[in-house]
Amino acid sequence: MDALTARLQEQVEQRRQAGLYRSRSTLESPQGAQVRVAGQTYLNFCSNDYLGLAAHPRVVARLQQAAQRYGVGSGASHLVCGHSAPHHELEEALAEFTGRDRALLYSSGYMANVGVLTTLLRRGDSVFEDRLNHASLLDGGLASGAKFARFTHNSAADLARRLARGTGLRLVAVDGVFSMDGDEAPLAELAATCAAHEACLMVDDAHGFGVLGERGAGSLEQAGLAADQAPVLMATLGKALGTAGAFVAGSDVLVEALIQASRNYIYTTALPPAVAAATLESLRLLQEESWRRDHLHTLIKRFREGARQLELPVMESRSAIQPLLVNDADKAMELSRALAGRGLLISAIRPPTVPANTSRLRITLTAAHSEQQIDTLLDHLADCWRR
Ligand SMILES: *Cc1c(COP(=O)(O)O)cnc(C)c1O
Repeated sequence: MDALTARLQEQVEQRRQAGLYRSRSTLESPQGAQVRVAGQTYLNFCSNDYLGLAAHPRVVARLQQAAQRYGVGSGASHLVCGHSAPHHELEEALAEFTGRDRALLYSSGYMANVGVLTTLLRRGDSVFEDRLNHASLLDGGLASGAKFARFTHNSAADLARRLARGTGLRLVAVDGVFSMDGDEAPLAELAATCAAHEACLMVDDAHGFGVLGERGAGSLEQAGLAADQAPVLMATLGKALGTAGAFVAGSDVLVEALIQASRNYIYTTALPPAVAAATLESLRLLQEESWRRDHLHTLIKRFREGARQLELPVMESRSAIQPLLVNDADKAMELSRALAGRGLLISAIRPPTVPANTSRLRITLTAAHSEQQIDTLLDHLADCWRR
């Protein structure tokens, strides 16, 4: 056997033996409260389509119309000739909605985070990240060449201690809502800490954008922060907005610097223009119809009250992410399988995605669910948990 094959086989085998082998389910339906996998229908409690917009008829229609007009592929990167009218219109709409000078589209949230951190930071600078940040923020911080420090989850006090030892430009990056925990960063406190140490705050609002805040503008709106308190905002379009891609919003010079120097922006093909057009429709739905957000929050409340009565160990979260802490990885997998046997799709999240011995069922609720479906979820969870 050649060396590469031997190494790869060993890697896969190690994962399997540690009980951490990962596999994929193949969907045969659109996203929604129910999905079909291998001919079976499941209640879906693991998608990030928080507002149920991924298959909304208006969003789908807009994608189709734009594909008729602009074709499928964007054909090039933004700086060559791939930047089309729908991209431009979406950037302007996102800038206005988030109250920033400008917004810049990236092909994915992963690329946006790595692109921003590697452009803003240099050797000699310092980046500070919450321990539970999304992998893309951590990877971007490490790749930037700046001094890299992780601080205790949601601890402004620990951050302050570390900031005092920072050098060069100091950038603090956090998830607005933590993707595997569902809890929120204490943004007002972090912003004050940053101000006291002349550091810049960057917020990744993948799970807050569209869900939190009076207008659904996200974690910053919910925390009442002004643009200058968190000058770098990143949010994704593949979650609450139900499409794909991501954007960075901020000052004119921030966006200008990213266009000039962000390799993850420059050296990649632009999103299909029809996806940008569909996202404009999602954004319109988000702004015109607040009932989805209201309904989602009603469901979150109902789930949490039910779980408390059933004494289920749900984690502290006000967001659409409502994880159930299991700890043991095998047990989490077993629960996920048992629930699938009852027609519920809920993913078990295990290390290295979460710290050792904190495996969990990551339950996500969406505006597409009904109250009755939440009750069904609670019934089955309680039953499987007791066994
Ligand atoms: C999903 C996610 C990303 C990555 O976004 P993609 O568009 O899926 O690449 C970044 N940050 C957080 C917190 C996320 O949950």
